[in-house]
Amino acid sequence: MHDHRRLGRELDLFDTDPLMGAGLPYWLPDGAAVRHALEEYVRDAERRAGYRHVYSPVLGKRELYEISGHWSHYNEDMFPAMELGGEQVVLRPSLCPHHALIYRSRSHSYRELPLRIAELGAMYRSEPSGVLGGLTRVRAIQLNDAHIFCTPDQVAEEAYAALELIRRAYEAMGIRAARYRLSLPGPGGEYVVDPELWRRSAALLREVLDRSGVAYEAVEGEAAFYGPKIDVQIADPAGRESTLSTVQVDFHQPERFDLHYIGPDGAKHRPVMVHRSVIGSLERAVAHLIEVHGGAFPPWLAPTQLVALPVSDAEVDRAAALVRRCRDQGLRAELVAPDQGTLGARVRAARLVPYQAVIGPREAAADMIALRLRDGRRLDARPAAEVLRRIAGPIDARGAELLDGDA
Ligand SMILES: [Zn+2]
Repeated sequence: MHDHRRLGRELDLFDTDPLMGAGLPYWLPDGAAVRHALEEYVRDAERRAGYRHVYSPVLGKRELYEISGHWSHYNEDMFPAMELGGEQVVLRPSLCPHHALIYRSRSHSYRELPLRIAELGAMYRSEPSGVLGGLTRVRAIQLNDAHIFCTPDQVAEEAYAALELIRRAYEAMGIRAARYRLSLPGPGGEYVVDPELWRRSAALLREVLDRSGVAYEAVEGEAAFYGPKIDVQIADPAGRESTLSTVQVDFHQPERFDLHYIGPDGAKHRPVMVHRSVIGSLERAVAHLIEVHGGAFPPWLAPTQLVALPVSDAEVDRAAALVRRCRDQGLRAELVAPDQGTLGARVRAARLVPYQAVIGPREAAADMIALRLRDGRRLDARPAAEVLRRIAGPIDARGAELLDGDA
């Protein structure tokens, strides 16, 4: 495994500037391309799974977090409040309170449930400057978040479906969970007090884990302040674990925000909130992808998917036309011309790019591509249209292999 901080800089994926501040990395074009591909993947997966996407602001009034409980249970991780026109506003420490308000803004019938509200949104954590670094300890976080508002009967099915989304996402990203953890409250922590609520939530999550068949460990002292959770743990090169994905069952916030739905009996009932994140924060997900793949991302995530390499200046126009054609088809393609080095040097420089299209005089004349793959394979020259079809397959399917038909 590799250190994502070193590789991130070497591969021009992200960086920091003292003037922006510690723990506030910016994304360079290649890093942004990886992140964008991940965002598209997760929005698409959520749409297919029946989620509806929203946008909500990154600030909220102090009272909002007093109601949610963050102000009293999570205060030391929050940025200080800002005075604004006689009010106090806070950079949000999570998206949950906003989504609870969005749910509450309209009346809901039981027929609409489960209502799955998703957002890739920013949240903020006032990490101490000593621990900041790379993409894993940051103060501004882009979270792949969602809240499912449902009846108590629907909780287990929704939590199970969320675990399934996580499993499929890890497969597509070519990563694996180090461990599944059932995170329970521990002695001395900041938790809301309601033993019955904790018992019910933990029992539901155990049921879901058992049904999904994954091995897991119950660990005390790792719960959220409002409820227990399933944490999907990943490990960095030093073996240090962190949480990437979570599924949480919450009876507390629906109570605090006085949420309800109208049941078949015409009366008001309290929904349950399932909080879940499939790929966690974009920062942590990309850091882990860099470390696992050493920069050789699965083709659908690669910043540049294809480089066109003209053998000599005579084929530059043909290679440029190929790049335009690839971009038309949605591929991220670049031209690397002979003025940037010998063919051998350009092939070496592009060693992390999944597909290298070498265009010599013969290929240029016949509209063919001699394809080299990142793993060292070299394919005979074939018509360009056919080659582009073969590489589009695994990219569209977000597979880990380089060509259709690979194991
Ligand atoms: Zn939440």
